[in-house]
Amino acid sequence: MYLDCNATTVPHPKALKEAKRAFKVWGNPSSVYQFATEAKSFLWESRQNLSQFINSHPLELIFTSGASEANNLALKGLFDGLTSSKNHLSKKNEQSEDLQERDELIISAVEHPSIMAVADYLSKKGFKVYKIPVSREGELDEDFFNKSLSEKTLLVSIMAANNETGVLFPLKKLIERAHSKGALFHSDMVQMLSKSSVDVRDLNLDLASFSAHKCYGLKGCGMLYCKKGVPLESLIHGGSQERSRRAGTENLPGIASFAAIASEKDFFLQKNKTIQALKNNMETQILNDIPRSQVISYKQARLPNTSSILIDGVKGESLLINLDLKGFSVSVGSACSSGRQGGSSVLSAMGFTETEASSCLRISLDYRIRKKDINKFVKALKSSVEKIRSLKTTQ
Ligand code: PLP
Repeated sequence: MYLDCNATTVPHPKALKEAKRAFKVWGNPSSVYQFATEAKSFLWESRQNLSQFINSHPLELIFTSGASEANNLALKGLFDGLTSSKNHLSKKNEQSEDLQERDELIISAVEHPSIMAVADYLSKKGFKVYKIPVSREGELDEDFFNKSLSEKTLLVSIMAANNETGVLFPLKKLIERAHSKGALFHSDMVQMLSKSSVDVRDLNLDLASFSAHKCYGLKGCGMLYCKKGVPLESLIHGGSQERSRRAGTENLPGIASFAAIASEKDFFLQKNKTIQALKNNMETQILNDIPRSQVISYKQARLPNTSSILIDGVKGESLLINLDLKGFSVSVGSACSSGRQGGSSVLSAMGFTETEASSCLRISLDYRIRKKDINKFVKALKSSVEKIRSLKTTQ
């Protein structure tokens, strides 16, 4: 039973079907002869579907190899771009000129490594970076945010939903505040897409990152939404694909799989009500049946499919192996934090001790999950916990 959908998802049959169709359309979308027009139209249709998915203009999408690249492009493309090509950008518009005077970045302390590492890179290059702390419940320290924000802030980058705890951040409010100081706003919306409706225009976002394999599409495909007029330098130089903001021939099968998910938007949004109810039921069963267990950020608004569970005195790694032997795939923290010394950086930023963080398990549900699966899983979890605890007492 696969219970690790925040790491990657089992592709939806329609995503596979569209990817297969794209494999046959093997012309280069940038070629000019007739044969390639099929690939070009396929790419354009996919772009249109995806722009409807997030309510943007098709030309505001930049296809990338995934969300890690989209996050890098958003942050480096803006900071490196503005400083390395001041004259070039200032010719573009007045907004660019104002932005050039700014050199500060604000992120949350629980961002994905593809934001954290770029922030560290920018900090080494001399840019000032503020990391907004979160409470033990995962809430953002809004006072800290307000104090960090100033006329020097170039960009705020705060995720829509955390990949480990599922906690949702109050984006609309934060975006309004950032804009009131003239700063741009980027959001890593990877875990939000397909689990909740995403409307970049209504949110008034400037930049947003997405990944196909986190929402039932294929790996190796993502996109950056870049609002018209936002100055951005390419990270990959070469051809003029993606309006010269990301060189390289487009990954048509990956993009087609992503667009297939966009076409199924209503189906996924509808499914979330069921997933949320099943997750609530699973959490209640765990809290009732497993002594000394707690759900992290229990009272916070969270993604419908994500639970992070702390089971006192039981190592998450031991549980993971035990459950794996019984056929259940869960994770301890995110796939990106596996092997990291000291465990999850997210839980550590929330103030959990190393021992507490190492006793956590992340469960992220697939839309195909049923009530009987949940019951089976909780039963297996309970017996694994009992087994590990009994071994400890006999040692
Ligand atoms: N952002 C978040 C919140 C994620 O969960 C992930 C994946 O783990 C990424 C970014 C990176 O996505 P990708 O695998 O497409 O590079």
